[in-house]
Amino acid sequence: MAGFVIAHMYPDLLNLYGDRGNLLCLQQRMRWHGHDCRIKNIRLGEKIEYAGIDMIFMGGGSDREQGLVYRDLVGRSDEFMAHIEDGMPVLCICGAYQLLGISYIAVDGQVMEGLKFFNYLTRGAKNRLIGNVLIKACIEGEEISVVGFENHGGRTCFEDDSLQPFGMVIKGYGNNGEDKKEGIKYNNLIGTYLHGPLLPKNPGIADYYLKTMASRQGIELNSRLDDYIENMAHEQVKKKLLAT
Ligand code: GLN
Repeated sequence: MAGFVIAHMYPDLLNLYGDRGNLLCLQQRMRWHGHDCRIKNIRLGEKIEYAGIDMIFMGGGSDREQGLVYRDLVGRSDEFMAHIEDGMPVLCICGAYQLLGISYIAVDGQVMEGLKFFNYLTRGAKNRLIGNVLIKACIEGEEISVVGFENHGGRTCFEDDSLQPFGMVIKGYGNNGEDKKEGIKYNNLIGTYLHGPLLPKNPGIADYYLKTMASRQGIELNSRLDDYIENMAHEQVKKKLLAT
């Protein structure tokens, strides 16, 4: 039995609309695959021992919480980016996704500097983009549908056309409600507006993370999990959305 550790960054500040459910999903599915998986909380100012970490997760947060974490996050940028370049699996939701870009300019004018990993900018607006979302995404060369829930005031716009979105919007708003792009995908990092949580309803993405974590430890996950219930939940949301 192998052991895996997922770092949950700022668990008490960035965790909205069930984001932590993504971690519970990864942990349980890894157990079903016969391996141990621990969640390590990383709070403001706490050092990340990357050598013992297999994946990084950051959830969403309101403007207030983002204001509390962005300086701490920016202080970690070089080390964090080096691990993203090295293929570390990373999942960042909503407020955390916004902070991977140049900056987030809140609706009250506050500028929160981002990590500047990717050339995109997020501007807050009064009317929020709220609702269930359906996108099509490409994971390991396979096109899949992804369902989730979004609730954000921020509009994220790519300043660089070569950036690859996580997926394209079929129903919902995505990055900005206009260009149909949703989230970002780079190496094994996904940034997305999809809360919900994302992974229990999209087991294909959960398995992509598990397989990536495992292969980085030289392990292959051979068992196939029974996703009957997960797929049914996915299909129900999809059907409902396509009917609207
Ligand atoms: N504060 C950000 C916005 O409203 C992020 C919200 C979130 O993480 N759900 O755009």
